[in-house]
Amino acid sequence: MDELFPNAEIESRPPPVVESEHSETDEGLDRKAKGAARKGEPEKFRPTLLPAADGRDSTSEGAARILIDDSSDLELWYGLPAGLAPRVAVGSRVYVPLRNKRAVGTVVGLGSPADAGEGDFQLKPLGGLVDDAPVFTKGLLDLADWVATYYCANRDAVMRSVLPAAVRGDRHSAQSQLFASIRRKPEADEIDAISRRAPRQSSILRELIDAGEALPVTQFGAGAIKPLRGLEEKGWVQLEEKVIDRDPTADEEFVATSALELTAAQESAMAVVRKAIRAQGDSKPVLLYGVTGSGKTELYLQAIEEVVATGKSALVMVPEIALTPQTVHRFKGRFADTDTEVAVLHSHLSQGERFDEWRKIRDGRARIAVGPRSAIFAPFDDLGLIVVDEEHEPSYKQDISPRYNARDIAVVRAHLENCAVVLGSATPCLESWNNVESGKYDLARLDERIDDRELPIIRIVDMRREHRKGGGPAILSERLRSALDQRLERGEQSILFLNRRGFASSLVCPACGHVCECPHCSVSLTFHRSEDRLICHVCGFQQIGPRKCPECGDPSIRFAGYGTERAEEIFRSVYPDARIARVDADTMRRKNQLRETLDAFKRQKIDMLIGTQMIAKGLHFPNVTLVGILNADISLHVGDFRSGERTFQLLTQVAGRAGRGELKGEVIVQTHTPQSPAIQFSRHHDFIGFSEQELEFRKQFDFPPFFHAVQIMCRSSNERLAEFTLESLHKRLVPSIGESVIVGEPAPATLAKAAGQFRFQLLLRGKSARAMGRTIREVLRGMNVPDDVTVTIDVDPMAIG
Ligand code: ADP
Ligand code: ZN
Repeated sequence: MDELFPNAEIESRPPPVVESEHSETDEGLDRKAKGAARKGEPEKFRPTLLPAADGRDSTSEGAARILIDDSSDLELWYGLPAGLAPRVAVGSRVYVPLRNKRAVGTVVGLGSPADAGEGDFQLKPLGGLVDDAPVFTKGLLDLADWVATYYCANRDAVMRSVLPAAVRGDRHSAQSQLFASIRRKPEADEIDAISRRAPRQSSILRELIDAGEALPVTQFGAGAIKPLRGLEEKGWVQLEEKVIDRDPTADEEFVATSALELTAAQESAMAVVRKAIRAQGDSKPVLLYGVTGSGKTELYLQAIEEVVATGKSALVMVPEIALTPQTVHRFKGRFADTDTEVAVLHSHLSQGERFDEWRKIRDGRARIAVGPRSAIFAPFDDLGLIVVDEEHEPSYKQDISPRYNARDIAVVRAHLENCAVVLGSATPCLESWNNVESGKYDLARLDERIDDRELPIIRIVDMRREHRKGGGPAILSERLRSALDQRLERGEQSILFLNRRGFASSLVCPACGHVCECPHCSVSLTFHRSEDRLICHVCGFQQIGPRKCPECGDPSIRFAGYGTERAEEIFRSVYPDARIARVDADTMRRKNQLRETLDAFKRQKIDMLIGTQMIAKGLHFPNVTLVGILNADISLHVGDFRSGERTFQLLTQVAGRAGRGELKGEVIVQTHTPQSPAIQFSRHHDFIGFSEQELEFRKQFDFPPFFHAVQIMCRSSNERLAEFTLESLHKRLVPSIGESVIVGEPAPATLAKAAGQFRFQLLLRGKSARAMGRTIREVLRGMNVPDDVTVTIDVDPMAIG
């Protein structure tokens, strides 16, 4: 198993979870319950042990092991009362008595403590069921175990990710309504008889017969309930409460689309995918490497159709940012004419909507689900296919505990549930690419854009030379300017991309060099002009923009760097007649704002769209012929081992927005480092060349994908204490971790201070992430971590620092 998926190692039976004493107390866990979490410490189990005072054996119906909610992994046995026993299953949510209170938990095992080798004792009885049916499938429980172990996370925190809060709570928010339907259809003479005695009853009856389906009682108007009850009593009509779904897309229409005839290239890629689907888990994961616009999404749609036709379900993962109305339309539209429902798991659904979508899946009404990271836990129990689109996307990695990567979980889930998994990207992450090269993944390729539409021409503009020339604003080169002029003349559209929001990335005093920094973080504050505020993008701290240097009082304090807000201002002043819109987190606060702006862009009411990542992905506008990347350097200078890869991916993604229609596209990349490999390879659309060079570098320096990385971080408001804790952890790790693991030195993190907390980090690299995790947890358990220090473990981190 281990060799199969080096990127996310699988163990067929998850080992028992070792609780982490280093639980993330700042993330809402109950500190006091911490001590009670350790298994194998009998005194901690005592609260549930009752003396057999009345001599009655309450375990006669068996017992259930319950993982208590919000308890840092407290697991306890409870007896099953006779009446409940048949309805309790692994995965059921239950009420239990705990310390004289009622707690909620999940059944994770059945049997008895004696069978489990934990001794024989009298148990408190379980209090009742939260839901009639188990909410966790067996598959999801196994998956949760795997996630907790692999990512060194609290099991309870994992369960919270698996089961959305909307479903987890015991006050369910399903909306129900009373429906009436025909129970026995009356003959004509019977209706006549009814209409003589009760005319209202007969008209309702006729309406129901005509409708041929259940109708909501409200449809019959006021006062209908009494005649309906009368009809019910006589046996003509049946009244029934039915759950109705709050459909977040109810006000939208989805025009049905049908499958396109696949191109030859798509056909051969489809053959690889089809083989995996038919193998029902007995095949390798498939990496679908296809340039943007090569027809990957069409392929997913047809693969899903085949899966659904065999009676199975399909899960489609998309990055949050790509879950645009366009994407939703594509998936809903393809199945609009069928009775296959598509659940959409946006992260901004209301609790009620989320609950309904979740239930649709759990009840088997929705056979397809589309969603971002957390959708990997969608409660299907008959998966035939998992698709991970844009598999390289960093947003698949969760940056709070559990720090999982949904792409890697997809591979594990597919393995555990015997289904196919397809990872798609135009710029696969090097882990996945390496898995193809070593034969662990199958490769399907789409090298050409549909209809042989050419990839856009990419031109690199050296901004250092541009500055020497002087003249225009530092964010608008001559070349970009003339390209924009052309587009405006021809009535074509442009997208301008800048990876930073706000007005200026910092305020700098020209007299004394003072930079306005966040008092709580080691970063400079970003100036937002519309609000006249300096805002910290790390912790959210805000202050009024200063009129003079806070340090020396000089009034000529200056803006340094560009954000989207400033770019918008500049482009508006250069092109006063152009229709310009900005898309970033600041302008898109209102619900539907993004949809409206993109709609307007699609209807060609906007000439230039300026934006951040929000416009980098998944958008498809045939009239866009120019993409300008205003500053390609921002992501290059992070100093992380992935920064080259990230830049290459970003440039390729953004470039993919140009020339998606009949017209040829052009991309202009403004940069201060034109010679960097990421920029040079992306210029020639050369992923293979880039990956070859980058993999060589990773191999030479023992970085992923050749080694797994684990990052340990200690943070505290007390700088010394954070540093000291990490140092003593380091000292204990070195002798126990094994010689094959490369253990770094404890050092301040790149972001050395965030939200008032000092951060120190330690990097480990080794061949097995699980082995490293095991040792780290063991060492931590033997350590006394001070109360105000938080230790976090990040397995397979997205970035280091
Ligand atoms: P990708 O997901 O790789 O970016 P898409 O599936 O979005 O590619 O395809 C790009 C464009 O080509 C879309 O407009 C899509 O409808 C169209 N397309 C895809 N496959 C075909 C096909 N077989 N025949 C005609 N048009 C296609
Ligand atoms: Zn801050």
